[in-house]
Amino acid sequence: MSQLSLLSQAALSRSRFLRLAAGALLPFAGLRPSAAAAPNPELAQNSGVSGTKDAAAPGRMGAILVSRFGPVKIHSYLSPADGLQVNTQMIEGPNAVVIFDGQLLLPYADEVASYVQTLGKPVDRIILSHAHTDHWGGLQVLTERFPDARVFALDGVAEQVRAKGPARLDGLRRTYGDRAATKVTVPTETITEGLQRIDGVTYEFKRFVDAESDLQLAALLPEQKVLMAFDLVFSPNEHAFTGANHFDHWMIVLESLKALQGYDRIIIGHDTPVDRSAIDSTMTYVKRAKEIHAASSDAKTYSENLKAAFPDLQQAGFVDLSASYLYAAPH
Ligand SMILES: [Zn+2]
Repeated sequence: MSQLSLLSQAALSRSRFLRLAAGALLPFAGLRPSAAAAPNPELAQNSGVSGTKDAAAPGRMGAILVSRFGPVKIHSYLSPADGLQVNTQMIEGPNAVVIFDGQLLLPYADEVASYVQTLGKPVDRIILSHAHTDHWGGLQVLTERFPDARVFALDGVAEQVRAKGPARLDGLRRTYGDRAATKVTVPTETITEGLQRIDGVTYEFKRFVDAESDLQLAALLPEQKVLMAFDLVFSPNEHAFTGANHFDHWMIVLESLKALQGYDRIIIGHDTPVDRSAIDSTMTYVKRAKEIHAASSDAKTYSENLKAAFPDLQQAGFVDLSASYLYAAPH
């Protein structure tokens, strides 16, 4: 997957991150109206009692936002742009931490692990949302540093990782050298659909097929009213990965997410959390990408036309990567 090198290297500055956080995350934390109405949202963030905080630390390459919901905290680690701004979510309950997704690159997974250790609670389990390399590459580090944590995924994801992982890692190591994993980490446990309580936190797991990837987990937190949609929904600020060629069914999946009532806070696989409107903007993007795909006979045309259709979006490298998959010679 040397095409990853094409992806945008533009850095996500801390100021932009805080701006996004202020816009996207303050309501996310369920702030009391008085705090939400504070004239300076960054001051409100640092109230220290409740709400969303930027847990900055000297020397850390990624960014971490902490959103508090009573006894439950969601810690969101966002990698720098060269790690594709991929998220790792750490759900901290009363006694343990549940980790979702493991980063693309080892140094960023290492930052996740070091941060989790500061929470002072054991890692109950690690859950992989789907089989794309940017979400499991760094699991090598997490499983080394938390050897007791079992790795869960939907039935079928482990087979996908096992089948395609070695070739993906070869490509990653050509691009990223020692920052990429040396071994494929395959989930060992199966996560089933439906309601499940883990460390006092209720999750509703859902299985979706043929969207951004062939097989994708979504996790609802009904008590916190948070939808963890991972790569089913993309940020309105970024291009989406369309390389799996499931335009029509992805639209159906997005319609079903739209039908979920009461979930206005959506945690996504890349970039900071969003509100419901991101479902609509993702639908607009997927629909346009489908039209452009139908009208484009080669990768270059698809890339150019999709970038021209959405000139303001970041992570344009996702477009080149998608095009390379969509127009790959059959074999
Ligand atoms: Zn992804």
